[in-house]
Amino acid sequence: MLMVARYHMHFLEEGKWSDHMNDVGEKNDCLFCRIVEKKVPADIVYESDDLIAFKDIEPRAPIHCLIIPKKHISTINDIDRSNSNIIGLMYEAAAQLARSFNVDKEGYRVVMNCNSNGGQTVYHIHLHFLAGRQLSWPPG
Ligand code: 5GP
Ligand code: ZN
Repeated sequence: MLMVARYHMHFLEEGKWSDHMNDVGEKNDCLFCRIVEKKVPADIVYESDDLIAFKDIEPRAPIHCLIIPKKHISTINDIDRSNSNIIGLMYEAAAQLARSFNVDKEGYRVVMNCNSNGGQTVYHIHLHFLAGRQLSWPPG
């Protein structure tokens, strides 16, 4: 208990307590954090220390996976110098998925939606990996 109190004190002193509570709240409410924790089942196709990728529950193409960081980040707007390395790792994972699904030569699309106009519905960043058919452009 003393340790917990000291931990909380640290946040109070730093003035970061409300940020901390928001973070905890977000994670508890976040579907993709629960998939990372394996509390919600998903068809996982790739896993590393930093990322997982799993099949989209409502596929929009013959191959439709979501590549997500294990650490919660709500939207692209939350990307900064402190966490942007994860974006490179997500693209590396996309290239690896493309090779493993054997679609690297024929091609595929990766896309990340942001907020309402971008069509984001789950507020934990995810790179859609779509392949297996000719994709139209521009998107709707
Ligand atoms: P967004 O609309 O935020 O860009 O993409 C969210 C994606 O998550 C959608 O394509 C949606 O089908 C997918 N999705 C939503 N809930 C679940 C779920 O419980 N499991 C899986 N595997 N995908 C989900
Ligand atoms: Zn999350």
